[in-house]
Amino acid sequence: MGFDDAPYGHCDLIFDNVRVPVTNRLGNEGEGFALVQTTLGVGRIQLGMGCVGAAERALQEMCSWVETRVIGGRPLVERGVVTDAIARSRIEIDQARAFLVYTANLVQTQGIKAARSEVSQAKVLAPEMAVRVIDRAMQFHGGAGFSYDTPLAEMWAHQRTVRIGEGADEVHRELVGKFELTRQRAFRAASKPAAQ
Ligand SMILES: Cc1cc2nc3c(=O)[nH]c(=O)nc-3n(C[C@H](O)[C@H](O)[C@H](O)COP(=O)(O)OP(=O)(O)OC[C@H]3O[C@@H](n4cnc5c(N)ncnc54)[C@H](O)[C@@H]3O)c2cc1C
Repeated sequence: MGFDDAPYGHCDLIFDNVRVPVTNRLGNEGEGFALVQTTLGVGRIQLGMGCVGAAERALQEMCSWVETRVIGGRPLVERGVVTDAIARSRIEIDQARAFLVYTANLVQTQGIKAARSEVSQAKVLAPEMAVRVIDRAMQFHGGAGFSYDTPLAEMWAHQRTVRIGEGADEVHRELVGKFELTRQRAFRAASKPAAQ
């Protein structure tokens, strides 16, 4: 979307007839995917933290803009719809932050396996929240929200990628749904009255 994170950035890599010596292999044959997955759990919490940071910055931008922008003789901040958007943003940011702390604590105390549903929930919840908050900030900036004068457009583009990178939202929701169904089945089985 025009923001390529230069000078490092993101690129396509093409592996054409690549051979890697066995001595360079990490771990055992056939376990590569599992090995890669072990790094992703913590990475997804870290991505979520980035989403919270971006949303905080967007809220700062929104609050300072609406105090100074005067429309029809009144500062924008005097419109109820603006304070409502600010309140919604604060509530959503704090919800996401609290859930990330909860998930990080679960990973630390019970291990990544016990927190697989929560990590996926965080991966879906945090960028959705960030995109929503940044979008609101852009809306109240009007045309300026799409310019390079504020960081909002770039932040929106980056946060939007998080809904796809490290597993698309749909894949994580599918996982969360499966964990929930398993949990509910176990709950029903445990609460079934014993046969007389
Ligand atoms: C900016 C950016 C940076 C990235 N950085 C990295 C990186 O550092 N390392 C890395 O390994 N990868 C990276 N990626 C790649 C990223 O992980 C993939 O783009 C992502 O996993 C989706 O794969 P895909 O693009 O092949 O889309 P596809 O797998 O083709 O999916 C396309 C769409 O289909 C739908 N979909 C997919 N699966 C399902 C399903 N099971 N159920 C329902 N719907 C589904 C979703 O809507 C999804 O968005 C990056 C991507 C972006 C955009």
